[in-house]
Amino acid sequence: MTTIAAKLQAVRERIARAAEAAGRRPDDIVLVAVSKTFPAERIAEAHAAGQNAFGENHAQESVEKITRLAHLPLEWHFIGPIQSNKTRTIAEHFQWVHSVERGKVAVRLNEARREGLPPLDVCIQVNVSGKHSKSGVAPGGEVELAEAIARLPRLKLRGLMAIPEPAPDIGLQRRRFALLRELKEKLAARGHVLDTLSMGMSDDLEAAILEGATLVRVGTAIFGQRKKN
Ligand SMILES: *Cc1c(COP(=O)(O)O)cnc(C)c1O
Repeated sequence: MTTIAAKLQAVRERIARAAEAAGRRPDDIVLVAVSKTFPAERIAEAHAAGQNAFGENHAQESVEKITRLAHLPLEWHFIGPIQSNKTRTIAEHFQWVHSVERGKVAVRLNEARREGLPPLDVCIQVNVSGKHSKSGVAPGGEVELAEAIARLPRLKLRGLMAIPEPAPDIGLQRRRFALLRELKEKLAARGHVLDTLSMGMSDDLEAAILEGATLVRVGTAIFGQRKKN
């Protein structure tokens, strides 16, 4: 087995154990392998080990990889900050966007999504770490943004996403993830049909799954440490 295959299996086992501890089915949790900074060869290796969904956070870097790997049946998730001038590239190459935090970006993604393609699956990113983080709408801000996205026919709102600041203890990790779950439940009570809580990474996926994550985004635990640029 290759290193990546072994690491993938270890991550799948962590997900299964956490699901079991939460009284949930492991199959109800999607694993997105975060391949940012790693070359197409490593992605192909992960695909050979049974992984189909990959996460990227940089439009230009990812399009080169997506184009090179177009012969494989991969699903691409955009998880990074979105510059307005990159919305067309993202809407053309990705199936999912997890990091929508502005109405203007949602409108541009909608305009750029081609008719022949299924609607773009999107999540609203929420800042659940208060002043420690700049990314995401402040809790409460997701209501207005969800209404705006619901009016855009080329986008399909699937749920909420968060990247909490690293927290030393599982109690604090869980409180942040619980907040995201509660915000999703409030949106559901307003009539939004949502099936996705995108939360949990290499260091905190157990806490996220205990609080209801339906999709975890895991990089380091699968591909190894990223080089800092
Ligand atoms: C890089 C990244 C991840 C993966 O983080 P790891 O700690 O390497 O698992 C997950 N989500 C987002 C949004 C990221 O940018």
